[in-house]
Amino acid sequence: MTAVGKKEPKAQIDFNCLNSDCGAVVKFNLSDAADPDFQAVCHECHATYEFDAQLRDKLTRMLNLIKAIREAEDILGDANVSVATAHDEVHIPYSLLLTRLNSVITLEFANRHVDFHLWIEPSSPDTFR
Ligand SMILES: [Zn+2]
Repeated sequence: MTAVGKKEPKAQIDFNCLNSDCGAVVKFNLSDAADPDFQAVCHECHATYEFDAQLRDKLTRMLNLIKAIREAEDILGDANVSVATAHDEVHIPYSLLLTRLNSVITLEFANRHVDFHLWIEPSSPDTFR
């Protein structure tokens, strides 16, 4: 693969609405969260969530990390993690671990520990086989 057509990685993040009567999924673009005026809005109960500077900073660094991984994708494409199982050894490409698996990050938000789910779009459909 080449570095041609590098685009901003599409990363979405969501969490369950903190309104205990609601619990809908509040979804937003990770790149929007760096904006100090950004508010996440629950489409169900219309609760708004403002992120403090610390949380914005974490989300921004998360986005930077995703970008860095995206940059190194062609290098990572050749690297594998070996995992020994009872009968065999399995090779898992780094790129798969880092960019394909959707992850959960628990961050402190509104004095609670909130699980944020991270969804990252693969850079192209044929990046990984
Ligand atoms: Zn809600």
